Amino acid sequence: MDAIRRTKNRLLAFATGFFLIVCALVWFTHSRRSPPSYSGVVAEGKHVRIFAPMGERSHIDRLLKTADHALERYAGNLGVSLTDQRFDVYLYDKTKDYEQADAAFNSGRTKANLAFCNGSISHIYVRPGPRGMPAQDIFNTQATLAHELCHAIHQRKFPSYDYLPDWLNEGVADVWAEAAMSNDGAPQAELSSWYSAYFENVQDTIQRRRLLPLSKLTSASFTRHTHDYRGQLYGEAYILVRMLDDPSPSNSKQRERFRQFLNEVNSYPASKGTDTRVNARFSQIFGGSASKGLMRDYLSYVKNTQVFPWFARNGNVHTLANGSLLTESYQNQTIIAFHKTKNSVHDFKICCDIDISPVGTREVDIVLSNAANNYYHAIYFGPKYSGLLTYNGEYHNWGRVGMDPKVFQSRRHRIELHVRGHHLTAKFDGKRLLDINVVNPEFSSEHWGVGCCDSSVVFSNLHRETGDGAYSAPS
Ligand SMILES: [Zn+2]
Repeated sequence: MDAIRRTKNRLLAFATGFFLIVCALVWFTHSRRSPPSYSGVVAEGKHVRIFAPMGERSHIDRLLKTADHALERYAGNLGVSLTDQRFDVYLYDKTKDYEQADAAFNSGRTKANLAFCNGSISHIYVRPGPRGMPAQDIFNTQATLAHELCHAIHQRKFPSYDYLPDWLNEGVADVWAEAAMSNDGAPQAELSSWYSAYFENVQDTIQRRRLLPLSKLTSASFTRHTHDYRGQLYGEAYILVRMLDDPSPSNSKQRERFRQFLNEVNSYPASKGTDTRVNARFSQIFGGSASKGLMRDYLSYVKNTQVFPWFARNGNVHTLANGSLLTESYQNQTIIAFHKTKNSVHDFKICCDIDISPVGTREVDIVLSNAANNYYHAIYFGPKYSGLLTYNGEYHNWGRVGMDPKVFQSRRHRIELHVRGHHLTAKFDGKRLLDINVVNPEFSSEHWGVGCCDSSVVFSNLHRETGDGAYSAPS
């Protein structure tokens, strides 16, 4: 009996010890996988919960809308259903917080990236965009959110996802995010700088003869690289997937094959070596890395895709579905959108209708420049006066005329600007406001553009006419 009791006691002690070890392991694993405590706002959409710092509160509704719409679209693409279990998204506005989350959940692999997704939870750093895009651009945040949620739904629904090659996961995330954004009336590559920057980067890479062979792109890991090389990998993968998945009718067969390929590889086992198997299958279906045909198609796809004709600083600029141009600036900042085409004529007019939101206290600019970002002239229309400024690190005032503050209480206005050599006239709602000779010998008009301060302005019927009556549409 004693022996039996002793054995029982030993077994009990062993079982208790084992139980405690299991508990410790579960606790450890759980604590490693739980998101950090976060005192930010929690906003709940249909399919997401967003944990965000105070700064993101003003556009949280837009983020929820983007997230829900994107997830529904992805679920449709993948033929899966969305359950009641929402996807969690953490936004960080401090580098330190983002890096901490990256170290805790992703072994610090994506420290230099904008975002990562782990266990179908998205972590997004909300400040800078790629290629030095400005901080807090709401469109950039929306695009990044849509990208991460594409990873999130794949991770939740397909165990193999983390074993697929990076080019496929990242390319699909960008291409599907772009499509999800455009369905909201927001931009595609031709209509916004976010996606067209990829095309411009790859065009540049092709010119410098640095385009990676497909074999190198498809086998590459996309983490732990320099900023430029990582940008190149993402850009090349995005264009490859975009070409294969292009929804235009002439690409319908190839798109169907690509979607079938995706379905097939999503069902592969979650094991090492799956990426090699996926790439081999890709080669089999699409001619593979040695295929000259695929490469030829790729080069002509890059060449024939029109890029967005504007470059912007300090905000969001994109073309709306009706062809109007929208500029949105951050709080207390001025956004300037410069047209990429150089203006070689010295007698021209810029004409547009404007809709200002919010109405009442804002500012609209027409910009002329020869060194876009740090040296330009702005003809501004504000609620108190209009005038000409030169910016070269600081603003210089060349002349201003009082405006009736009441005019800005209505939303829609017409602006006309006529530049003839160094002579400038500006009309606001048909009334001549400025008529000045610009004494600054550096007054120039190499690029032209539009912008606004601390507001959102839609420019419609925006065009440039040359003095001899020739017409040039901006896009
Ligand atoms: Zn990604």
